[in-house]
Amino acid sequence: MKYISTRGQAPELTFEDAMLTGLARDGGLYVPETVPTLTKDEIAEMAGLSYEDIAYRVMRPFVGESFGDDEFRTLIKNAYAGFAHDARAPLKQLAPNHFLLELFHGPTLAFKDFAMQLIGQMFQAALTKRGERVVIVGATSGDTGSAAIEAFKGLDNVDVFIMFPEGRVSEVQRRQMTTPSESNVHALAVKGDFDDCQARLKDMFNDHDFRDEVGLAGVNSINWGRVLAQVVYYFSSAVSLGAPHREVSFTVPTGNFGDIFAGYIAKKMGLPINDLVIATNQNDILHRTMETGAYTKEGVTPSISPSMDIQVSSNFERALFDAYGRDGAAIRQLMEDMSEKGSFTISQGAIEALREQFKSGRVSEEETNETIKDMLARTGETLCPHSAIGARIGDQNLSDVPMITLATAHPAKFPAAVKAACGVDVGLPPHMGGLFDRDERVTPVANDLSALTTLIRERLNK
Ligand SMILES: *Cc1c(COP(=O)(O)O)cnc(C)c1O
Repeated sequence: MKYISTRGQAPELTFEDAMLTGLARDGGLYVPETVPTLTKDEIAEMAGLSYEDIAYRVMRPFVGESFGDDEFRTLIKNAYAGFAHDARAPLKQLAPNHFLLELFHGPTLAFKDFAMQLIGQMFQAALTKRGERVVIVGATSGDTGSAAIEAFKGLDNVDVFIMFPEGRVSEVQRRQMTTPSESNVHALAVKGDFDDCQARLKDMFNDHDFRDEVGLAGVNSINWGRVLAQVVYYFSSAVSLGAPHREVSFTVPTGNFGDIFAGYIAKKMGLPINDLVIATNQNDILHRTMETGAYTKEGVTPSISPSMDIQVSSNFERALFDAYGRDGAAIRQLMEDMSEKGSFTISQGAIEALREQFKSGRVSEEETNETIKDMLARTGETLCPHSAIGARIGDQNLSDVPMITLATAHPAKFPAAVKAACGVDVGLPPHMGGLFDRDERVTPVANDLSALTTLIRERLNK
């Protein structure tokens, strides 16, 4: 199995190299050269299997020679052992033909644990074999950083440094990053906002001496290993509702387009998915693009669903690549337009191809609040703001095909927003009970490249 870049000018890589590299050298994103398919019988055989067994069958063809069969089974088993629900990704029913896929039973209470826990295991195995170490640096507005720290803490071949904007993450999110006591975890409170953190991360990757010296690696949502891990729960949920003998649809709260792109891969693999619906908050660049065919950057307006406050949706490039018939030169041109003019226009053929695959909708702040309150009254479920956005758009797209809406975070991760919307005080689940009692360990640092690289070098040489 080979991986190619969406911009057509980077070397083809194996699964392992694509995962360890993250971003391709030509600025593109890695995708499989061909997407393996599963037969109807192979999908039918998944009925009743554990999440881990389904994960193995779905992901095995993508991994190629990078891991042995038994080894890969063990990595999957270890990745999900810390989840607080035996089903890993349980389904709940919201209405006669509307289901909620709960993706928040992992250690940091958001769906990012599904991918991050597995790539933590895969990084460790690959690096041990190579006798290499890497330094993972990430920037976060909250969920990615805590998921990465949980996944990489205590691993031998990895140091993990997470930059978050000081004073701008929720207390639960901050404590998830600052309370792990493992010495390879470094939480950095940067004096700036999230855009500053992301800009400093880019600076570090562009500082080639530093990058090579410390072995810098990235695990942001464009990493193919993360997308792949997310394909699994589309299969596990669809099969429990009767696939492949019955079609299903999905609605996905979307920011960086990683999660919904995983659904698109599931469909290409042969899962009978009818609709794939993009649900955005007021930062609705993806919805506007689907409506108008023009991808136009506007300012981000902070919302109560902060993990979807995005104006450059990185993984969308992968969908564009397919919509343009896998023409890397066409993608390079679009991205050039983007950096020169802050926008690009999608060709008629490509936008039609995208509209064949994806529907979309947008939810305002007021509607999000309304939905949290309404869902509680209609179903007894307390939804986080991101999941509520999904549920509302899911409701609007109901048909005779069962609709599965992805619940991307636990409401306890966003207690203030949930309380304001419906009056409920959501407590942390029992497995996170001690979060407010543990000591915090965090290093304040200036919003400055050399301050950051000096600090990282010092920590590594201790
Ligand atoms: C990251 C995140 C999203 C958006 O997922 P993408 O893969 O970026 O589209 C939605 N909800 C929550 C809670 C998240 O943490």
